[in-house]
Amino acid sequence: MSGVYNITLEISRYDPDTRLSWVQTYQVEAGGILRFVDVLRKINDEQDSTLAWSSSCEHAQCGSCGIIVNGKPLLACELLVKDAVEQFDTHRFRLRPLTIAPVLRDLAVDLEKAYDRVHEAKPYLINPAPLPKEGDEYRISQETLDTYIEATQCINCFCCATACISSHHHFIGPNATMANIVRLMDPRETAKEERMDILYREDGVYRCHTSRACSFVCPKDIDVSHFLALGKEGKF
Ligand code: SF4
Ligand code: SF4
Repeated sequence: MSGVYNITLEISRYDPDTRLSWVQTYQVEAGGILRFVDVLRKINDEQDSTLAWSSSCEHAQCGSCGIIVNGKPLLACELLVKDAVEQFDTHRFRLRPLTIAPVLRDLAVDLEKAYDRVHEAKPYLINPAPLPKEGDEYRISQETLDTYIEATQCINCFCCATACISSHHHFIGPNATMANIVRLMDPRETAKEERMDILYREDGVYRCHTSRACSFVCPKDIDVSHFLALGKEGKF
């Protein structure tokens, strides 16, 4: 059913000028196929232009519209009103900013430090193997690619890091750890020792408690904890 829904949104507000925070309730009449980003925009247009939130591509590719809805980190551009009503079995939704980063205003967070963790994991080939032949391309067998291609779909939305109980306690985080592991699995990478130093350092993969919350919330359906388990076992 994609009719019209009367939904209630309880949204965390924060004003950085006064440092006041509160929860504001909005009643919205929304079509079932509206996404939560559309609903937030509708609130801006019709009720409250001061409500701040963030998005960019709105096609689940940039990872900038992550929020927590009824306790679950997700992408606001992916969640349809009708699906939210069905999934959470309610017409009332509590929206909060991701907890992995400091709040700038309302639902908008500053992900810079969170990105620093990913950068620490060096999400690129540190020292790629030379091409087999000048002007040729490096070929990877389909079988090898199949073992890690899923992990390359990560958009660094930090939903997994928000859901991870360990992320807030001296852990580089599930997506940053996976970014390292996927390059350990990449046959083109030769800097394996440097990567293992990152993987097994104090804030590395052994901080993971295998709760699998990361896999449960990942909007790209990546089994993040599977890759972290491979990292723990040195299977790359
Ligand atoms: S692994 Fe999934 S949840 Fe985590 S940052 Fe990547 S896309 Fe987002
Ligand atoms: S499996 Fe590990 S990385 Fe994933 S949420 Fe649990 S503790 Fe965090």
